[in-house]
Amino acid sequence: MIRRLGKFGYTAYLVGGGVRDLLLDRRPKDFDVATNASPEDVRRLFNNSRIIGSRFRLVQVYFRGGRIVEVSTFRRDPDVQDMEEAEDAEGSYSLNNLYGDPYQDVMRRDFTINALFYDPKDFSIIDYVGGWEDIHRRVLRAIGDPQERFAEDPVRMTRAVEFASRLGFYLHPSVEEAIMDDGWRVTQASSERLREEILGILLSGASGRAMDLMNILGLVSHLFLKTQGLMTPHMDEVVSLLVKADGSIRRDSPWAPGQFLALLLLPWLRSLCPFTSKIILGQTLEIIDQAVLMVKSDLFLSARLSHITRELLLSLWRLARGPRVRGAGRFRENECFQAALDLFKVESLVYRRDRVLLDQWHEMEGRKRKPFYRNRPKGLMR
Ligand code: ATP
Ligand code: MG
Repeated sequence: MIRRLGKFGYTAYLVGGGVRDLLLDRRPKDFDVATNASPEDVRRLFNNSRIIGSRFRLVQVYFRGGRIVEVSTFRRDPDVQDMEEAEDAEGSYSLNNLYGDPYQDVMRRDFTINALFYDPKDFSIIDYVGGWEDIHRRVLRAIGDPQERFAEDPVRMTRAVEFASRLGFYLHPSVEEAIMDDGWRVTQASSERLREEILGILLSGASGRAMDLMNILGLVSHLFLKTQGLMTPHMDEVVSLLVKADGSIRRDSPWAPGQFLALLLLPWLRSLCPFTSKIILGQTLEIIDQAVLMVKSDLFLSARLSHITRELLLSLWRLARGPRVRGAGRFRENECFQAALDLFKVESLVYRRDRVLLDQWHEMEGRKRKPFYRNRPKGLMR
């Protein structure tokens, strides 16, 4: 498709995570293209495309097999003159769609490793910010002054944590310092973006490392205003649980966001309601409800997602009672059963509990059923 843009006289490069991941020998999640063609021009060149976004307009081009490539026009950040002009023109709309040249497009991006262009015409990498070297040194460095860039958009701080954890990079000292000093700014970001960001981190396959890093950098206290009190005293356990969960995602199936949310609360809940033979579900549920309400308010969770988290946690105590109690057969039909069993397995490993109960449940499980969350539209689990 870059060739097609080229054929019509436009400049077009592969950019962002796609280039970074190719250089790191990782499978890219998606591909982004940057071009000097306007969204309308791109739309005209590709039948199977549509323009999306109002803040930043870009074109999604659809390919066979469900692949989507996002094409955006080179943009630049507004300067003082732009600000003045915008005041008496269309206002923020025109400010958000300022077109620029490739250099300006690079300078508005977040980290050097995300700012490489790849030109498939001659297989060259265009690097204005030293991103190539940073990839090889495995360091995450901001473009420009990190303090300023994080003030512009505080979500870049959680993005820094996610990239460092997922790619196994270390944060450049200036990035680390800026987050330590100005971490409170994350609360200025919109609640939807923050929620998506945190859920993205939990599902990234490196949630344990990310949580550990967010804790060290002081971000946990800003992101989890209410739940931090439950999590920080047990942070080592939380991290161990997440690390085990990350491992099991990589081995078999994806997990649902509610499963990770449940793990965040589990150590605290376990300290209050131990897995003993005398579990009283009613009491446990009261405490679970408290904790789930807190995380719901911290992360602006949907009613559905907080409900799933609650059900999963309650299911863990049901599992802990073993399959020989009344109602166990019916519970096995519960839509949360499989997902809760995943959690139970991770819990047994981390706390080194003996596997007797787990084996009993597995025996009872018999024919393997699909976890309830597979094949469901993503939106339902959020
Ligand atoms: P992933 O593998 O998670 O998709 P990515 O680097 O492709 O990583 P995207 O969120 O898909 O991340 O964004 C694509 C590119 O857009 C980034 O590589 C970066 O250059 C730029 N970008 C995204 N979000 C921001 C931001 N908040 N500030 C500045 N640049 C950003
Ligand atoms: Mg991407």
